[in-house]
Amino acid sequence: MPWPDEPCPTCPRAARGLPGPCRAMVLRNRRYCDLTDPQHPAYKPAYVALLCDEPTAVSPAPTVQPPPMLERAVSFVGAVARHVAAGAPTVSEEVKEARLTICRSNVCGKFGGDANGPACLACGCGARGLATKAGWADQSCPLDPPLWGPVEPAATPASPARSS
Ligand code: SF4
Repeated sequence: MPWPDEPCPTCPRAARGLPGPCRAMVLRNRRYCDLTDPQHPAYKPAYVALLCDEPTAVSPAPTVQPPPMLERAVSFVGAVARHVAAGAPTVSEEVKEARLTICRSNVCGKFGGDANGPACLACGCGARGLATKAGWADQSCPLDPPLWGPVEPAATPASPARSS
């Protein structure tokens, strides 16, 4: 059975015998396969640590500054508008946690921590806003290319209830 249901040939988790799917498989994001392949030009060791649940050794105190407050507010309102327009689709807890684990690892160098300030210094969302957006299927990390992006929704408010 091909990827994403089976690890790719260069999967660092599979090489170490670690159980469970890696976050690339959970998020259906093949970019991590390139970022963790030593033969690939995009290779970065921090991403191997990320996929293998190890500390990424990236500074937890980024020096980048978040966007101004007004820009942050406009960005979040835009995210809400896109989410509502898309039918308010949500993701599974597994996908949400995989997204937030990537943020907290700070492989992007733009995670500001969980305290009172912005958690994502790229979009300026606070911890609560980032956690909210991570639960919305239509949302993406603001980097280009993003470290996590839209996924198939687990549910929308309009989803029909399952019959028992
Ligand atoms: S959303 Fe992207 S840029 Fe922001 S903290 Fe998460 S991984 Fe980093």
